[in-house]
Amino acid sequence: MRYVSTRGEAAPRGFDSVLLAGLAEDGGLFVPESWPVFSLAEWRALRGLPYAELAARIMAPFMCGESIDFAHLQRFCRDAYRSFVHPAVVPLVQLDRSLFALELFHGPTLAFKDLALQIAGRLFDHVLNVRGSRVTVVGATSGDTGSAAISACRDRARVDIVILHPAGRTSEVQRRQMTTVLSSNVLNVAIEGNFDDCQDLVKAMFSDAPFRESMRLTAINSINWARIAGQIPYFAAAALALGAPDREVAVAVPTGNFGNVLAAWVAKQMGLPISQFIVASNSNDILRRFLASNDMSVAQVVETASPSMDIQVSSNFERLLFEFLGRDASATAEIMKRFRASGRMAVPDSVWTAIRREFKGFSLDDPSTLTEIASIYAACGYQADPHTAIGIAAARATAPVGMPVIAVATAHPAKFPETMYKALGVYPGLPSTFSDLYSLPERLSSAPVDLAEVKQLVRQFSNRNDR
Ligand SMILES: *Cc1c(COP(=O)(O)O)cnc(C)c1O
Repeated sequence: MRYVSTRGEAAPRGFDSVLLAGLAEDGGLFVPESWPVFSLAEWRALRGLPYAELAARIMAPFMCGESIDFAHLQRFCRDAYRSFVHPAVVPLVQLDRSLFALELFHGPTLAFKDLALQIAGRLFDHVLNVRGSRVTVVGATSGDTGSAAISACRDRARVDIVILHPAGRTSEVQRRQMTTVLSSNVLNVAIEGNFDDCQDLVKAMFSDAPFRESMRLTAINSINWARIAGQIPYFAAAALALGAPDREVAVAVPTGNFGNVLAAWVAKQMGLPISQFIVASNSNDILRRFLASNDMSVAQVVETASPSMDIQVSSNFERLLFEFLGRDASATAEIMKRFRASGRMAVPDSVWTAIRREFKGFSLDDPSTLTEIASIYAACGYQADPHTAIGIAAARATAPVGMPVIAVATAHPAKFPETMYKALGVYPGLPSTFSDLYSLPERLSSAPVDLAEVKQLVRQFSNRNDR
């Protein structure tokens, strides 16, 4: 499979380089040159496979061909999903006659990002090993996503990882999920500032070209195609379980950067009859406004009880825009450039109308999210975390009547104990794999909001074995 950039200026290339590059040099995002399509018979043959095997077969057309062959991919999937505590890996729980929660939170950090990141970490290690090279993954977290990246990279021979978090501003569970990983290739830095300070420090390190190159800095963020590819299989698994490819289904996805819902849309391009994509947001509702009235304008981010969706620009939307513009890269580049400059995206009306035929928007503010958590629990005894509850509310409000709808459950309720307590009056139990979280020793460095000092920490860490 070859990949092209949505902005058309970067040279097409294979999966290995796309994996290591993340973003294309022209500022665009990589997409496959064409969509691999499975026949109805091929889809039916995937029903009932163990999840790891299903995942390897669905990801193979995107990843195999250069240094990764199918046997490697099978091994990465088996290893990655062995660390999940549920034997089904991604169990489907029925909440109502045609409403199902697809639980994506049984991985090592209890969030759906584990599904793709646990694969991505192994792919990085493999490709770097073949190339005889190393990288330092650098990222900032407000608390929720850092642990998934750390868990994916820990103990990988070719990868070091440095994660900055704002000191004292993450929850204790979030901090401990990161700082109790004592692997020698993991560095946690508590920054004496807020999340924006952490992000600015990371950006400044990446824009310092000599530093970036000498430290071989890289990111494994959600614009990396490997992350999208790793999220396609669970949509397929759920759709197959509910009767696809012989029956239509809808999906409802709590959305931030648009990566997860885009993966569902890719599953449709591969031949699954997913007829509707319900995009669920919190009060940061840029996508709902776009789908309602073609108003994609950036607003101030507000903090909510569903922090992983507190986003103003959904980066992966660019991939969908590129497709709906008929893969016209120069039109995509032009629209994105003007969006960057003006904060408002000018999507042609015909394109907007076409997107609206498949995508529905929905948003819920915090008070209604708490009410929704309580009413889901009252109706069927199910504890939905705040992100999941918004997706379920969206499914109820907009799903086509009679069609099975898959609402993705993106985080374990135990990750948001205070909100769950407010909604239900009880604390969710922490899964048994987490029972020692409060007794394990922690390791972390700290630094002021000072670029020179943070760079020095990264340098020392990266050179610790005189590599
Ligand atoms: C990251 C995340 C989301 C948003 O997913 P995107 O792919 O960025 O749209 C939703 N819920 C939770 C719990 C997350 O961690």
